[in-house]
Amino acid sequence: MSVLIFIDHTEGQIKKSSLEAVCYGVKIAQQLGQPAEGILLGTVQEDLTNLGNYGLTKVYQVKDEVLNRLDPQIFARIMAEAVGKAGAQLVIFSNNINGKAIAPRLSARLKAGLASGVVALPDTSKGFVVKKNVFSGKAFAHVSLDTPIKIVTLNQNSYPVTKLEGKAEIQEWQIPSAGGRVKELSVTKASGEIPLTEADIVVSGGRGLKGPENWPMIEELARLLHAATACSRPVADAHWRPHNEHVGQTGIAIAPNLYIAIGISGAIQHLAGVNRSKVIVVINKDPEAPFFKAADYGIVGDAFEVVPKIIEAIKKLKAV
Ligand SMILES: Cc1cc2nc3c(=O)[nH]c(=O)nc-3n(C[C@H](O)[C@H](O)[C@H](O)COP(=O)(O)OP(=O)(O)OC[C@H]3O[C@@H](n4cnc5c(N)ncnc54)[C@H](O)[C@@H]3O)c2cc1C
Repeated sequence: MSVLIFIDHTEGQIKKSSLEAVCYGVKIAQQLGQPAEGILLGTVQEDLTNLGNYGLTKVYQVKDEVLNRLDPQIFARIMAEAVGKAGAQLVIFSNNINGKAIAPRLSARLKAGLASGVVALPDTSKGFVVKKNVFSGKAFAHVSLDTPIKIVTLNQNSYPVTKLEGKAEIQEWQIPSAGGRVKELSVTKASGEIPLTEADIVVSGGRGLKGPENWPMIEELARLLHAATACSRPVADAHWRPHNEHVGQTGIAIAPNLYIAIGISGAIQHLAGVNRSKVIVVINKDPEAPFFKAADYGIVGDAFEVVPKIIEAIKKLKAV
C-alpha cells in the first residue's frame, strides 16, 4: 500500500501540521514496508529535498503559483490525478482547514473511504483500522477502511515530528490548474501575528474579562509567549474580539501545545474546540468553574491580579 502525503503550506512556508502528517505517513509506510512520498501543490521558499529529513523518499510538485491559494475543487481534481499517477493507495492530509476542504472532495472523486480526525497509527494487522475522535472529542471510534484507496486526515498535535537525515527526490508534474468555479475577489487577512490554527500556544479570554478595554493584558501575555489570541463565543458575539478568534463547537477547533483560558467558564461548547490541547491552564475566580475539570493546571484568582503577575514574572525571566 503506497503512501502519498499532502504537504500544505502558507505564505511560502510548510505548515507544522503537515510535517506531523508527513512523519505519521512515513511511519505507516515503514509499517507496511513501502516508500512514503509527498505532494506539494504550489511553491514554497524551502528546499523540498529537505523533506527527506522527515523520511520522504520523493516529493511531487505541481509548481504553479495559482495553487498558492486554496481552491478545494481544483485541489481535489489535481490530487485525484496525482493519486493515479503516483499509484497511491493511502492518502494522508492534516485535519486542518485545507485538509478538511480537500479530503472529502477527493474521497468522492476516487470513491475512497475517508476517516477524518484520526489520532493514532492504524492497526494494519487485520485490514486497516484507524482510531478517530467523535462527538467533539468526547469519545473515540475505531473505523475500518476497506476501499482500495483510503484517505486519512490526521488531527493536529496527535503525532510527533521527528527529524532524521536524508534527501528527497523532487519530481515536477504539469497538471493544469484551470477550471475553478469560484473566483476570489479579495482577501482580508485575519488579525493577529500568529495564525490561531498553527499556534503552539494560545492565550484565550472570556466574558470574565468584562470588556474589550481589558484585552491589552491578554495581548501582552500572548506577545511574551509568542502565542496567538482566542476568545469564547459571547466575547466575539459582543464584538469585543473579531469572530476569527472564536474557538469552540461553532468556532475554530484548535489543538495547541498550551491553551491558557482566562475568565472562561468552560461550557461544553467551548471545550469542544479546545479539549485536544496538550496542556490546559485555567485562570478563573470561581473554584467551581467547570473548566477546572478539564484543566491540567488551574489558578483560582482574579484575572486582573493574576495575569499582570504572570506578565511580570515572564518579563523578569526574559531579562535574566
Ligand atoms: C449551540 C451553541 C453553540 C455554542 N458554541 C460555542 C462556541 O463555539 N464557543 C464558546 O465559547 N461558546 C459557545 N457557546 C456558548 C457557551 O454555551 C457558553 O455560553 C460560553 O462559552 C460562555 O462564555 P464565557 O465562559 O466567556 O462566559 P461566562 O459563562 O459568562 O463565564 C465567565 C467566566 O469568567 C469567570 N470570571 C468572572 N470574572 C472573573 C475575573 N475577574 N477573573 C477570573 N475569572 C473571572 C467566571 O467565574 C466565569 O466562569 C455555544 C452555545 C450554544 C447553545
